[in-house]
Amino acid sequence: MRKFKTESKKLLDLMINSIYTNREIFLRELISNASDAVDKLYFRSLVDETVKINRADLRITVSFDAEARTVTVSDNGIGMSKDDLDKNLGTIAHSDSLEFKQSGLDAPGLDDVSADGDIAADVDIIGQFGVGFYSAFMVGKDVRVVSRAYGSDEAWAWESDGVDGYTIKEAERASHGTDVIVHLKDDTDDESYGTFATQHGLTDLIKKYSNYVRYPIQMEVTKSRMKERPADADADAAPEFENYTEVETINSMVPIWKRKRQDVSDEEYNEFYKTDFHDFEDPLRTISLHAEGTLTYDALMYIPAHAPFDMWSKDYKRGLALYSSGVLIMDKCEELIPDHFNFIRGVVDSADLTLNISRETLQQNSQLRAIARRLEKKIKSELATMCADDREAYVTFFKEFGRTLKYGIYSSYGMTKDTLADLLLFYSARQQKMITLDEYIADAPGDADAIYFAAGDSVERLANMPIVTTVLAKGYDVLLCDENVDEFCMMALADYTPKDSTEPDGSTKAWPIKNVGAEDLGLTTEEEKKKAEEVTEENSGLFDAMCDALAGKVKKVVVSTRVTDAPVMLTTEGAVSLQMAHLLKEQPGADESVPEAQIVMEVNVEHPVFDVLKQAHAAGDAGKVKDYAMILFDQALLVEGLPIADPLEFAQRVSALMR
Ligand code: ADP
Repeated sequence: MRKFKTESKKLLDLMINSIYTNREIFLRELISNASDAVDKLYFRSLVDETVKINRADLRITVSFDAEARTVTVSDNGIGMSKDDLDKNLGTIAHSDSLEFKQSGLDAPGLDDVSADGDIAADVDIIGQFGVGFYSAFMVGKDVRVVSRAYGSDEAWAWESDGVDGYTIKEAERASHGTDVIVHLKDDTDDESYGTFATQHGLTDLIKKYSNYVRYPIQMEVTKSRMKERPADADADAAPEFENYTEVETINSMVPIWKRKRQDVSDEEYNEFYKTDFHDFEDPLRTISLHAEGTLTYDALMYIPAHAPFDMWSKDYKRGLALYSSGVLIMDKCEELIPDHFNFIRGVVDSADLTLNISRETLQQNSQLRAIARRLEKKIKSELATMCADDREAYVTFFKEFGRTLKYGIYSSYGMTKDTLADLLLFYSARQQKMITLDEYIADAPGDADAIYFAAGDSVERLANMPIVTTVLAKGYDVLLCDENVDEFCMMALADYTPKDSTEPDGSTKAWPIKNVGAEDLGLTTEEEKKKAEEVTEENSGLFDAMCDALAGKVKKVVVSTRVTDAPVMLTTEGAVSLQMAHLLKEQPGADESVPEAQIVMEVNVEHPVFDVLKQAHAAGDAGKVKDYAMILFDQALLVEGLPIADPLEFAQRVSALMR
């Protein structure tokens, strides 16, 4: 007996015992796997001449034995070798899925998923694994998989009770493909597993969950018909019935994307999505498109509710499935979807594309490019509508995928901003919720002409940053940006032209986007500036001493013109803000060549601490001035959520001060 890997076992327990109340989906999962297996074989036949199969022969067969309490899902697809069985069915989520890093989950999180836990969260985690097959154990007390890989003459049987291990033994199978035989659990008071081993039970489930699977799902069904009467029979005698059996295709197989939106229920769309894209959750939105004219095609696209676990890994592949007249040409056609919408799942089907389209011709295919352009527009308008009409859903969407949009702007150096900028949401310090750039502008006071943002690691911390409270006090809103990509995105955007920005003379006005921590915002009056210069002059001795104390750390020390509660505040000159300098330094491979921030320390001369500084300086206590300057500098960094160079030294200085 081989043992399941520990992680697998944990998940298995979780799955079988707590997560799914909806046990019937096991059939959908097994049929999806069968359909994939058939697809894989068909696919291979397209690229490998030695694989000779006839597409019309490919099928999935569902059968049952009421007495033995078994349900069997068979396919004549690619099959599995002994190794495949071990690798694919011996480990849940064999495909690196357990690398939690990318998903933002950490491994200990698994232990938190308890039977009484939040079901939605559980499903979310489970949905990130390839656990489809294991759902068979929700209804089966044991499961036997007999498989023969295409091109091999051996068959193998994998068997397990789903508890802690499995066996793989030699077996017989007439030709390539796989049988999954689920031996149903005993009925309980709550659950009648036996209904799965009935004709009605199974045909209903196939129609409900797998209607659009592209291969025939066949079942031998028993039907009843009136017996033919012998010629001499009594005309008044009651008719007699007899049973006969017939192989029937249960699913409709008409591609769902060919049907008009109004003829398909949301539920059908959702089921198709879950079956075809192996998600356990309904999608957030369904987008369907039927184009006619020079280029005729149907597209069905989905916005998932959650990002897949590997979305942020470099192995993630975007793309839509590409069909030609209902036949799959390619699983993930990248050319159909721009990178900034890489979360979209779906299919495109066009009769105008040839079947043997190759990688190279794809890239130059102008038809494909035309489709891609149209799809991008459609996705954009769907998102814009969601943003305007259903903000709650849009905020959910943005939490999952906003980073992709922002990254799209940054990585294109702003070239995609016309498409993406009005889809962005940022947290407004004033309104305390996520708003669009248009909403920022609409809400701005009459004399405002710039969009202000602050970047850091948490919204709460940013909200308390002296410079932010200063700008707010002046009546302007500040967008609080707490994602790494935010500042880069804002820089790439540089400015934003609101949607209805046409001035009386027909021109449009762009609002520059300004980092409150990095730039002179031009919010001080001439008078205030002059005053500050005077005070700076008066205290030049003190400021020089502070500057010396902070040599290599700050570029200059000046009097602040902003009203704040803090004794000092750090701003920067030039393009590199404090936050950005920090991010750049954290990049893997960063060295001395990364640009440093040109830090300016602004001193609040209204603050009592300033008097203490002045006294120390007047008393000629250079050591004290130095200590104070260092403490103030480190403090200001901490307020911004940035690391300080030497925490120990900082602590020692503070304790010395207390003594
Ligand atoms: P997923 O389908 O999400 O990858 P599963 O646990 O359902 O995860 O299946 C694991 C793997 O087992 C599949 O990726 C596939 O390689 C293999 N497999 C499952 N069912 C079949 C089948 N009927 N024919 C061939 N391979 C299969």
